[in-house]
Amino acid sequence: MSELSFAELGLDPAVLEAVSAVGYETPTPIQAQTIPALLAGKHLLGVAQTGTGKTAAFALPLLSRIDASVTDPQILVLAPTRELAIQVAEAFTTYASKFRNFHVLPIYGGQDFFPQIKGLRRGAQVIVGTPGRMLDHLRKGTLKLDGLKALVLDEADEMLRMGFIDDVEAILAKTPQNCQRALFSATMPPQIKKVANTYLRDAVEVRIESETRTVERISQFVLPVYAERKLDALTRILEVEPFDGAIIFVRTKAETTLLAEKLSARGHAVAPLNGDLNQRQREQTVEDLKSGKKDIIVATDVAARGLDVPRITHVINYDVPYDTEAYIHRTGRTGRAGREGKAILLVTPRERSWLRTLERATNSPMQAYQLPSPVELKKMREEQFETQLLGFAEDGKLAKAMALLDEIAERNEMDTAMVAGALACWLEASQPGSLPLEQPEALPEISANAPPRRERQGGRPGGKPGYKPGFKKGPKGRGGPGPKGKPPGKGGKPAGKRPPRQADAKR
Ligand code: AMP
Repeated sequence: MSELSFAELGLDPAVLEAVSAVGYETPTPIQAQTIPALLAGKHLLGVAQTGTGKTAAFALPLLSRIDASVTDPQILVLAPTRELAIQVAEAFTTYASKFRNFHVLPIYGGQDFFPQIKGLRRGAQVIVGTPGRMLDHLRKGTLKLDGLKALVLDEADEMLRMGFIDDVEAILAKTPQNCQRALFSATMPPQIKKVANTYLRDAVEVRIESETRTVERISQFVLPVYAERKLDALTRILEVEPFDGAIIFVRTKAETTLLAEKLSARGHAVAPLNGDLNQRQREQTVEDLKSGKKDIIVATDVAARGLDVPRITHVINYDVPYDTEAYIHRTGRTGRAGREGKAILLVTPRERSWLRTLERATNSPMQAYQLPSPVELKKMREEQFETQLLGFAEDGKLAKAMALLDEIAERNEMDTAMVAGALACWLEASQPGSLPLEQPEALPEISANAPPRRERQGGRPGGKPGYKPGFKKGPKGRGGPGPKGKPPGKGGKPAGKRPPRQADAKR
């Protein structure tokens, strides 16, 4: 991540306010390089993948340069698909949320012309759309580009691959001479270079290079998962991985808190680590992880910079990092002091192309992470339950507890086994998932070669800025509802000696 803050980049105050509201801590590398160039009015050629933060890299400076009070189209973004157009439009809407009377209009093929024409008549400062439909509107005269200040070609190589390059060139030819232009592409095939040479003369070039480095001693795994199931997958990873300390990386400060709360509700000793905490609070959090008071930290890249806690056995990349540099830094939080470490990366289908870049950069292919099947998981839970139970078998209070159960059984003409069963159900109700009474559900698998499903929200990392579908939907509790008509006492948690720490930590 960059050392610069957003405030130092010279963005419009209203844009800066929106960025802060969305919770971004610092500019990603592409943003740090792109924003000053675009703010200076230069053309820009960006070689970067999805997931690097490139939408904000062009949206923030371009929004800072327009006259928000004028309702004519001032920024035009061309995207290869309707889904991408919608996502980019959503991103612009978020970054422009502090402007008054501001409109962002997505226009794409497959949708009725009428609402698009209505939107264009009403006025929109930003138009985001697919090339074919955009050209239709230009030809019909329903879209006019006289006041256009900037044009962005997003995922240019995809537009080429999908056969839109002629439409793109036709649109480029209709933009005003003095219009600023930016082109983003993951690769630079000759036709794209030709477009760049013709329409983006003297462009500033920004490349988010992948460094070749090997992360030694750390086994690296990848788990493809749909964005909306990320939390379920994480919950399961934490259940089955024999970790000592773990660090989970997310993208925003808000997410550190949200995810930490969710994991805490699942019984983990977890704390967030982000830039909103003051120095003393951060030190305390790290100290808690070192001492074992906490087992998991949910952190942003910035807050975890340089973190050195030998007991971190696992790094979980809940959100993909912005670049390979950040990935290498994250991964290096484990395998400290010559120990072994494990890194697990969750990727959504759209982020898979990024994975290949990463493998090249770290010089090692990632292994596929296997989540246990429901049957294996049930067996594992049964074994863990047994271990926990046996942890109480030598408890000094056992005799008293047995005598009490005998009394209850006798008074109620029950078997002792029945009383023990009722006790287990009570335990399950007060600590959902503490007892494998239910068969766990299977998580939907994405095969390594499955074609990417263009997810409307969340397919790109996070979908809408600051929005993570994984957080929207709580996972299904493993064992049903919490205590109904809670019996007296302290939530049903057995007193006395705690079971072995490892099994306990996973609960
Ligand atoms: P993109 O590469 O534009 O698809 O962006 C990927 C994701 O990163 C989106 O979910 C954005 O909301 C998020 N994002 C972009 N810039 C930042 C930043 N500086 N800090 C945190 N998250 C960001």
